[in-house]
Amino acid sequence: MRNLLPAFVVAATAAFPAFGQQQDFSKVEIKTTRVSGNVFMLEGAGGNIAAIVGDDGIVMVDAQYAPLAPKIHAALAKLSPKPVRFLINTHFHGDHTGGNAEFADTAAIIASTNVRKRLENGSVHPLTGKPIPPAPAAALPIVTFDSPTVLHIDGEEIRAIALRPGHTDGDSAVWFVKANVVHLGDDFVTYGFPLVDVANGGSVKGMIDALDELLARIPADAKIIPGHGPLSTVADARKFARSLEEMLAAVAKAKKPVGVEVLAPWAPWGQGFIKAEQFLPMLLRDAK
Ligand SMILES: [Zn+2]
Repeated sequence: MRNLLPAFVVAATAAFPAFGQQQDFSKVEIKTTRVSGNVFMLEGAGGNIAAIVGDDGIVMVDAQYAPLAPKIHAALAKLSPKPVRFLINTHFHGDHTGGNAEFADTAAIIASTNVRKRLENGSVHPLTGKPIPPAPAAALPIVTFDSPTVLHIDGEEIRAIALRPGHTDGDSAVWFVKANVVHLGDDFVTYGFPLVDVANGGSVKGMIDALDELLARIPADAKIIPGHGPLSTVADARKFARSLEEMLAAVAKAKKPVGVEVLAPWAPWGQGFIKAEQFLPMLLRDAK
């Protein structure tokens, strides 16, 4: 069953061009879904947002793109009149942090140490290698962490968990313990072959290990918010990790030099944002 086309590949591709800097956001609508308790998932363009609302204010995970901030504010206002008090970034990519500065007037931005480093110093685009300029000061996380960090708000325990390098070298998952919801950032995406940002410290093997380590710690019935794609389950994320593992194994045992045909069994995965020709070099770095 591993080569079934992830159902939303086509839709997700439209929502995920190269970090969307030139994208037209005027037509984007923010769709809000209640996940569990007071935890909501907001979909627009770019990475999925998680938000928990309550009397103490709103805690948001990821911020999509800056031009979408007014629409995100409007969507949140329908849930609560309270301000966003904390914004946690799952990693530094612009489709997750582009809106940071637009929330910084009320929100303390929280992320792993490497997110701040890459936003502050600039980085390189994972696919084009072009420089990404430093982010404005207001967009930088003011609280950084490298080990699990917990927010206690409105009776909820929100654990921001720094993961080993996988999608990038600054990934975190965010676990709403009481609501039983986990935002996995881009270590789990549903658009087909994942983008693994090797230029910024990522690795396929690391992504698999990070997922395995985290999924072993959370309840089997937790609801999973992927970095991109619809609400998912722990089983979906496990299946994704196993598929990546099978791809790595296939590449490791293939005759050298390894050609793109090694990924033929997963051809449907290449109909998303990342093509087989782009994913193969990411696998080759770890296939030993
Ligand atoms: Zn990303």
